[in-house]
Amino acid sequence: MQIEDLQLGKEYSNEEVRSTFCCSLQSGMNKSNTTNTLVLIINHVKSIYHDTWFDNKVHHIGKGQTGDQTMTRENKILSESESNGVTPHLFEVFRTGVYIYRGQVHLYEKPYQKEQLDKNGNPRKVWVFPLEFDDNSRPIENSEIEELFQTKFKKAQKLSNKELENKANNMPDILGFREVATVRNQRNPYVVAYSLRRANGVCELCEQPAPFNKNNGEPFLEVHHVKHLEDDGGDITENAVALCPNCHRMMHSLNRKSDIDILILANKKKQI
Ligand SMILES: [Zn+2]
Ligand SMILES: [Zn+2]
Repeated sequence: MQIEDLQLGKEYSNEEVRSTFCCSLQSGMNKSNTTNTLVLIINHVKSIYHDTWFDNKVHHIGKGQTGDQTMTRENKILSESESNGVTPHLFEVFRTGVYIYRGQVHLYEKPYQKEQLDKNGNPRKVWVFPLEFDDNSRPIENSEIEELFQTKFKKAQKLSNKELENKANNMPDILGFREVATVRNQRNPYVVAYSLRRANGVCELCEQPAPFNKNNGEPFLEVHHVKHLEDDGGDITENAVALCPNCHRMMHSLNRKSDIDILILANKKKQI
């Protein structure tokens, strides 16, 4: 495979990336002399760094895990990539061994230094490279951003109190933002209105009144599909129920068979 055959957003194995670029993938920045490229890898599973994304730009942390990072070797190559003929390419890893190709990048501003914790939790200076994708946008999949959160969250749960406190208080105030590619089902407003009217302010699972009223006086209930739309459930009155926020979260979290049976029955019994 040639570099120009790589497709944006597609997954590649370690071996595919290595053989395409002719370089090792031992760190976050890997120089290939054969293809004159610099392969940048943002590894969300392993990395101690936090790169900040701003849509199609990413402020990428340089190389060096402990102590102050220096403007040498790969960091220097990247900082001079506008003039040294080396092309940087960027991959992201959400699952070990799976590399998602994000495309070619270039520096759009001068690298700058900032303070960040090293892998032992000590403050040190890192180099930050403001990179922009050569093609416009680089949307991330919704599932990828969820996976990213879960990966980090599971790691966070294993930290000691001291480590957790340290991490929680030493991240940027805002983690950045990313364009998310989503496909959304259009909801049928008549089915929503019908379900709410049928429930008449009472949750169809716990049978308790809505916990509060909205500003316009309507009871706050949410319309839920017993068989989820993503699982080919229909957006039809026979599949829609009105739930209080607690029961709604519980259905999405547990989706117990016994509760589903109650909802199916409640749905069958009632009309407006
Ligand atoms: Zn309820
Ligand atoms: Zn729902």
